[in-house]
Amino acid sequence: MEAPLRYQRVLLKLSGEALMGDGQYGVDRAVVQRMAAEIKEVADAGVQVAVVIGGGNIFRGMAKAAEGMDRATADYMGMLATVMNGLAVQDALEHLGLPTRVQSALHIEQVAEPYIRRRAIRHLEKGRVVIFAAGTGNPFFTTDTAASLRAVEINAELVLKGTKVDGIYTDDPVSNPDAMRYRELSFDQVLEQGLQVMDATAITLCRDNDMPIVVFSMNKAGALLRVLQGEEEGTTVRS
Ligand code: UDP
Repeated sequence: MEAPLRYQRVLLKLSGEALMGDGQYGVDRAVVQRMAAEIKEVADAGVQVAVVIGGGNIFRGMAKAAEGMDRATADYMGMLATVMNGLAVQDALEHLGLPTRVQSALHIEQVAEPYIRRRAIRHLEKGRVVIFAAGTGNPFFTTDTAASLRAVEINAELVLKGTKVDGIYTDDPVSNPDAMRYRELSFDQVLEQGLQVMDATAITLCRDNDMPIVVFSMNKAGALLRVLQGEEEGTTVRS
């Protein structure tokens, strides 16, 4: 029998880079489909899933164009990139038969609903996957901070940070074979040691609101479900 699920409502943060697979930029359709299948697995198991998508895959591909630009303008371009990724993930999820809504922090009504907290919660209660696009809607922030903020707002129990690596390591596990994975860390350890999990604003918001984060590999089949079954996966950051 399958292990019972430990969580009812979670927020999954996917970086834009996670969507580009081995490419240099853009969206790799096969990768997005694989991620959608992982999300479907947990949604089918009865977990309410909200998703925050990054934009690095599109935006950093245009880094040259953004050079010398006004920072706020470049950041708005970055936020628009997350809307494109949100639509790509929505499309992949709906092809699998999962109902979804994209809610954008920037008004772009022909494309996505505006972000309305209570409406997002209602969608989740009805079993729809809610994809939050356009970050926080403010320049000078990141989608990691958007993930922390939305998780707190919708009363999620956990932030799931899906990355290419299966947790937080003492060193880069690719270049150093002796690097060890932390099973658990406190928010203060992450901040003090400057560990690359999420930016400091995102970590602080989680710390102040007692919102645990699990960093796990989105490339490992079934890992997302195993985290939600409370199995030993990735690294947990908590108070
Ligand atoms: N961004 C922003 N405000 C936000 C979220 C994102 O200005 O609330 C911009 C910022 O320029 C950022 C870009 O959007 O670099 C893409 O987001 P991010 O770098 O967080 O994406 P990821 O690294 O997760 O792909």
